[in-house]
Order: sequence, then C-alpha cells, then structure tokens
Amino acid sequence: MCSTMKAAVVHKFKENLNVEQVPKPKTGNGQVLVEIKACGVCHTDLHAAHGDWPVKPKLPLIPGHEGVGEIVEVGPDVTHLEIGDRVGIPWLYTACGHCEYCLTGRETLCKDQLNAGYSVDGSYAEYCLADANYVVHIPDSLSYVESAPLFCAGVTTYKALKVGEAKPGDWVAIYGVGGLGHVAVQYAKAMGFNVVAVDTFDEKLALAKELGADRVVNPLQNDSAEFIQRELGGVQASICTAVSKKAFGEAYRAVKRGGKCVAVGLPPETMEVPIFDTVLNGVSIVGSIVGTRKDLQETLQLAAEGKIRTMVETRPFEDINDVFEDLEDGKVNGRVVLINE
Ligand code: NAD
Ligand code: ZN
Ligand code: ZN
Repeated sequence: MCSTMKAAVVHKFKENLNVEQVPKPKTGNGQVLVEIKACGVCHTDLHAAHGDWPVKPKLPLIPGHEGVGEIVEVGPDVTHLEIGDRVGIPWLYTACGHCEYCLTGRETLCKDQLNAGYSVDGSYAEYCLADANYVVHIPDSLSYVESAPLFCAGVTTYKALKVGEAKPGDWVAIYGVGGLGHVAVQYAKAMGFNVVAVDTFDEKLALAKELGADRVVNPLQNDSAEFIQRELGGVQASICTAVSKKAFGEAYRAVKRGGKCVAVGLPPETMEVPIFDTVLNGVSIVGSIVGTRKDLQETLQLAAEGKIRTMVETRPFEDINDVFEDLEDGKVNGRVVLINE
C-alpha cells in the first residue's frame, strides 16, 4: 500500500497552503483511518492558516474539520466501527472523557480536548486519522458532499440556537449568512422560530430568503438593530456568526429584554458591552462552541429528514488557496466543499 498521501499543508501563517505528498498516518489503538471523500471549508480554517487567535495551531498543519469519508482501517482494539462505515471527523477530535465537563454533557469545554485541523492534522488530505470514539456516523440518505458542512457549520448553529433558548414562535436573528448562517436559518425554521437574517451582501440575503428567512436586513443600508427593535420588538436570541466586531455590537442591540446574544463568530477582537443596558434589560451574552457528539447526531438527523439543505459548491483540493481568497472576500454563498478527484 502507498505510504504517502496528498494533503494541503500550512507551513507558515498568512502564506499559501502547499499541496504536497506527506506520510500517510498509521492507525493505532483506539483510532480509525478515514479515506476523505469531501471536506467543507470553514472560516475557522482561514483563522488557523493566518494564526489569528491567541492559541496558535500546530505547524506544519493540515487544516479541515468538516471531513467525511469511509473508514479504511480500524485500530486493533476498536470493536464498534467497521471498515466501510461512513463517518465524519468534527472539530472535537477527542476529549478526555473523565473531567467535570466530559461527565456533564459539556465535552466541548474539556480542557484536554484536541481539535481537528488545529491541534492535530485535519481532513484537507486523502486520509485522516481519527479517534474511534469521536467520529460520528453519516445517515444513509445523506451524501458525503451534502453532509460535510453539517459537521461544523450545522452542529455549531443548531447548538447555538439551543443555547439561545428561544421558543417556537419567537423571533431570532442570524447575523452572517455564510457557511454557518445559511444552515442556521434553516435549523431556526425547523425549530419553529421566526427568522430575521442579517448580512452585508444582498445575494446572501436572497439565499436566506430562499431558505426560509421571514425578514432580511442589510446593515449597510439600515442599522440592523434599530430595524429589528422597531419592526419586530427585538429578538429573543441573536446568533452572531459574522466575523465582524460591528456585527457583534448590532447583534447585542437587537436582543429584546431578557433575551440572549449568542456569540459564535470568532473575529480576533473585543466586544464592547454597555453595562447599564445589560443590567436594566436583563440581557445575557453567551459563547457557544461547536456541539457535542449527541448534538451532531441530532443535526444530521434533521438533515436526513429533509429539513436542512446545505448549499454547496464543490472544488478540488488543489484550489484551496483560491477558495480561501473567495471566503475572505465574502464571495462564497453557502459552503465550499473540497473533494478528492
Ligand atoms: P463565512 O465567511 O462563510 O460567513 C461569515 C458571514 O458574515 C459572511 O456571509 C459575511 O458576508 C457576513 N458578514 C460580514 N460582516 C458582516 C456584518 N457586519 N454584518 C452581518 N454579516 C456580516 O464564515 P463561517 O464559516 O460561517 O464562519 C463564521 C465565523 O464563525 C468564523 O469566525 C469562524 O471561525 C466561526 N466559527 C465558530 C464556531 C464555534 O463553534 N463558535 C464554529 C465554526 C465557525
Ligand atoms: Zn468550523
Ligand atoms: Zn474532559
């Protein structure tokens, strides 16, 4: 068997990725090797390649945490997975399994977690190694390409909506209708909420409408928070996926009394919060990070039932640097999914 594989590798922050041959990983105890069929390109991968955040990724790095494919090798002690199983490898690559967070259904807060395409190599490659206990099966009715974005964009926004604690009939705002936001709109509708979508690109707002958004607003034309307060009386939950400090400020101001601003996007900036309004209005600001394996199963199930449709453009792995440029320029409508050709 061939002992190398093709991968897109970050060698230095803010420089182009290099598509090259690297050693094919060896499958150890507790692991499976997945032949990657498709991998979504999340804006997080761009942050990783730029070294944007306080905690830096490993270098060299193979990014990618929306990788899906077929298991081709199972470690000697793995009994619950088989060769041929269709699985995805999410951001939560592994966690310790015994800390207070892992024991209380909050494994995404585990301090000993590893993250795919960040602290360990991810799925911008022909093969990716995974922890057998943290891969999640893909329902039979979903293709690899359509399911890939659910492994981060899907689970992250589904979970953030749960964190927002809106009830059916409540208004929620989705700030940023990109990879995350375009599925957020659909999960919000599937959960029975009224949705107002906010983005600076009109074509993304058109997509949001097509996917079920009840109202849309472009903050370049109107102050979105003023619009939402005036027209809708504020939202119970504001889910901010935009990579923009300005958007976080508007998402906060769009919340009604007693509501929640759920921070999801990760611009490397600070958020300014007026103390007086927060106190008087009883508003919560809460961070939400991906979702647990159980959240991911639910995320996939809703899509398998036909309630969620990922809007995907497929590109070969070799195009990764162009894809990053398009993502940075806001030119991706939906999600780009890299495929091995
Ligand atoms: P994306 O680039 O596909 O989407 C971002 C969207 O925000 C774009 O449509 C863009 O037009 C829009 N936008 C930009 N400025 C705006 C503004 N002022 N107001 C409204 N919309 C605006 O990115 P993505 O893949 O959806 O990821 C978004 C962010 O979420 C990234 O920072 C990523 O790292 C982060 N992320 C967080 C988690 C988590 O668990 N919390 C998980 C995945 C991604
Ligand atoms: Zn992601
Ligand atoms: Zn733990």
